[in-house]
Amino acid sequence: MTEVRTALVVGGGIAGPVAAMALRRAGIEASLYEAHTGPGIGLGGMIGIAPNGMNALGLLGLDDAVRDIATPISSFVMQSWTGKRLAQFGGGPADPPIAQMVWRDEVQKVLADEAASRGVKTSYGKRLVRLQDTGAGITALFADGSRAGADILVGADGIRSMVRSLIDPSAPQPQRTGLNALAGFAATAAGGGRVSTGGSMYMTQGKRAFFSYQVLDDGRVGWFANMTQPRPMSSAEAVAMGADKWLSLLREAVADDRTAAPDIVRRIDPADLLIFGALEYLPPVPHWHRGRVVLVGEALNAPSNSSGQGASQAVEDAIQLARCLRDLPDAAGAFSAYEQLRRNRRTRITEEAEHRNQNKAAGPIARVLRDMTMPMVMKILTKPEKQAWLAGYQIDWDAKVGPEEIRALSGK
Ligand SMILES: Cc1cc2nc3c(=O)[nH]c(=O)nc-3n(C[C@H](O)[C@H](O)[C@H](O)COP(=O)(O)OP(=O)(O)OC[C@H]3O[C@@H](n4cnc5c(N)ncnc54)[C@H](O)[C@@H]3O)c2cc1C
Repeated sequence: MTEVRTALVVGGGIAGPVAAMALRRAGIEASLYEAHTGPGIGLGGMIGIAPNGMNALGLLGLDDAVRDIATPISSFVMQSWTGKRLAQFGGGPADPPIAQMVWRDEVQKVLADEAASRGVKTSYGKRLVRLQDTGAGITALFADGSRAGADILVGADGIRSMVRSLIDPSAPQPQRTGLNALAGFAATAAGGGRVSTGGSMYMTQGKRAFFSYQVLDDGRVGWFANMTQPRPMSSAEAVAMGADKWLSLLREAVADDRTAAPDIVRRIDPADLLIFGALEYLPPVPHWHRGRVVLVGEALNAPSNSSGQGASQAVEDAIQLARCLRDLPDAAGAFSAYEQLRRNRRTRITEEAEHRNQNKAAGPIARVLRDMTMPMVMKILTKPEKQAWLAGYQIDWDAKVGPEEIRALSGK
């Protein structure tokens, strides 16, 4: 039984509200502080919540609320630039959805509403700038001059985490993958009368761009693309370049592909374009906690969007941290156990996503080799038993955290 009674959670994205709800379920009174003036403000875009993320949300009874705003994806179909089918993940008659696609701002709002309805007090417009360990507790100081105190503080403040910098000023910073991202969700016209892809999302390893799309039953088209960058660019610089310029670069990049991509891209309205700029990733940082402060979500590791796991891992972190705080006597022991339960899994996911990014940015020779070997490699990788460690991952909320589980997951 923990001596921790109260927690401040900084960051109201995905990890933050889930951590606050999980901590409350573990008997710790948690309150949430978010820099934006309300929920779901900031970068939009579609994200996929993987089955393991849905399992973790289910432990807090949040899965149905997320499903209500989601589009289920039954399978991922991988294609080469020639339109040849290289592999398929999922889609068997008995297979559950391979992911639930949600808008990032919508899912944040749903989680914020759920947190509020469960008694989590959330304060908006609170940008954390400093921390003070008083010996008896931790105090958070915000840019507006206000402060708040508790026994512990959970940093859920995303890839550019202030909490991370405060607990370790030399912590590594996010790195660029060399790919930029564009996305959109377009009305029927963009599909050019295309028929529904029947719940499948097509992923084309194109000649010069990775292009993914899904046509819904009502004819709308959701899509995203990754291209190697004209030059390294922050998201602000990329946005400043303008939608017309990006669309013409994308048109050029998919021009030779013998897939649906050229046609879909030709029909995209610049007003519907979401420009993200350089995709970034952050390998798990060396220090996940210090004193009374601990990190969750992208504050400690952003595995790059190629993993499709950022949100799901953020939710798993939140649940495991709450279990550790519930079951271990003090914060130091709980934080250490939490890191041991999580570090190996996060490292493996990050490494696999990096490998996928290299495939997306492949040059002409690597592309030929990739397209030749992918069907065979995928045949092995898509076997359910090969994916079980990732998509089938289940946290046992009721089980007490103990040495056996820690040994099994940390490999120590
Ligand atoms: C283009 C793109 C595509 C993606 N695709 C996927 C996908 O398919 N699947 C997937 O699982 N994930 C995907 N992700 C990643 C996913 O969005 C993140 O993993 C997820 O949002 C992480 O949640 P988080 O709560 O850790 O961070 P965030 O959602 O970034 O939330 C952090 C919050 O902290 C707040 N904050 C920051 N600094 C402070 C401060 N000093 N004080 C107070 N508050 C602060 C921010 O305003 C924000 O609300 C994608 C990301 C991008 C950019």
